[in-house]
Amino acid sequence: MFCSVYSAAVCGVEPQMVSVEIDISGGLPAFNMVGLPSSEVREAKERVLRAIENSGYEIPSRKITINLSPANLKKTGSGFDLPIAVAFLSAIGVIDPECVQGMMLVGELSLDGSILPVNGILPIAVFAAEQGIKKLVIPEGNAFEGAYVPGIDIYGSMSLSSLVKDLKSKSLTKIEKADLQLLLEQQYLESTLDYRDVKGQEAAKRATMVAAAGFHNLLYVGPPGSGKSLMAQRIPSIINQLSPAECLEVSKIYSAAGLLKNQSLITERPFRAPHHSITSVALIGGTQAARCGEVTLAHKGILFLDEAAEFRKDTIETLRQPMEEKQIVINRASYRTVFPADFMLVMAMNPCRCGYYPDRSICNCTEAEVKKYFGKIKGPVLDRIDIHVAVEKVAIDDLKEKTKTMSSADMRESVCCAHEMQKLRFKEENIDFNSQMTNAMIKQYCELEKEARQMLNLAYDKYHLSARGYYKIIKVARTIADMEQSRLIGRKHILEAIGYRNSLLEL
Ligand SMILES: [Zn+2]
Repeated sequence: MFCSVYSAAVCGVEPQMVSVEIDISGGLPAFNMVGLPSSEVREAKERVLRAIENSGYEIPSRKITINLSPANLKKTGSGFDLPIAVAFLSAIGVIDPECVQGMMLVGELSLDGSILPVNGILPIAVFAAEQGIKKLVIPEGNAFEGAYVPGIDIYGSMSLSSLVKDLKSKSLTKIEKADLQLLLEQQYLESTLDYRDVKGQEAAKRATMVAAAGFHNLLYVGPPGSGKSLMAQRIPSIINQLSPAECLEVSKIYSAAGLLKNQSLITERPFRAPHHSITSVALIGGTQAARCGEVTLAHKGILFLDEAAEFRKDTIETLRQPMEEKQIVINRASYRTVFPADFMLVMAMNPCRCGYYPDRSICNCTEAEVKKYFGKIKGPVLDRIDIHVAVEKVAIDDLKEKTKTMSSADMRESVCCAHEMQKLRFKEENIDFNSQMTNAMIKQYCELEKEARQMLNLAYDKYHLSARGYYKIIKVARTIADMEQSRLIGRKHILEAIGYRNSLLEL
């Protein structure tokens, strides 16, 4: 007696097809599992046998062989319990093999036969639809993930016995499809963080807005308590909401990592702020179990490194590859996978060890010490930060309630306007934002007015700019001009862009 069904293994965030074959033959009673199962999968044997018995079915005293193919793919996770049990029950004739033909199943079984939720259902469901699988059975607890995947019939199930009953009577109930666009619209209105709550700091807000408009990486330098974190946390509130495709892309990552909370997809742009004690592996991903890192959890959102000078220098340097390639390739002995990592990097730091430079009433740090402190973050990653902004202590007048202050809605308008301009400009290119322009693209898309050109040349000589620093200023000026829907880059745009460099960090 032989039967096979489909299942899937998720490595990193990429699912792979696995076929679960079962053979029951004469010979000494035994239960063997082959096909490179991990220890978690090998444990499935006990769970599955008890779950089958406790659901009221008898295990024949025969030789049972289970094969998970392809054999060269390492299978991890507990999601193979359900396909093994169902293949087994059809091999012994409890279920008609016709009913499960071409079906994919994923789910963990508890000893009493109930089906428990597992990680990675969303990427599996999308993958199954792409592969032309017609029917997918998932745990009821993961049903909300299945609801947003079109092009495939998905069924949620509570327990092995109820699934068998439904299969026999051909009365499986489909999970009703939900409208992703509608979900996004509803959730967007509920965002709570707003720049209205950050009093004063208009200059820093302006710089933040420019950064968000061109997806420029950003560095805040300012004393403790000046509101650097408050400012960073609100960046997602001024960028347009995730599109349905982006929402699925980000939610797939969180589903695979087991981080989807409250039975909902990720509807807001991610904001990740790892502590400075984080290791390189936790930051960029690639543990033994192929878990993704913070850079991938920040995909399509913000990666915020507070107290940037406290991070290990080699940890920060690992960001270089994902910042350049927008993805990270992990090669380990047991697997190879690619994690997406398209994020905006925002860093914050104090201006010196005590935190108050250049306020000489408090700070006693010498110039050399200040230089050394900034030296901690110098390197290829800092080179990729286009905008440096000094965040000052809030002036007492600004704390008064009545002072008019920019809200997220005001800021979002300019940001979205600039995004529209860039969308049109780069429709033939493989980039989305000004910050990603190559030097050739800068020449093609950044036309400067005569006065602007003169101003830039003056700055080039005066500040001894490097070529990289020179192009950075043009890129940022391009974004500022886009916020005003101006085709030409003018003098004031260049002037503002020059202001976003920090002499202590020499561009
Ligand atoms: Zn100091």
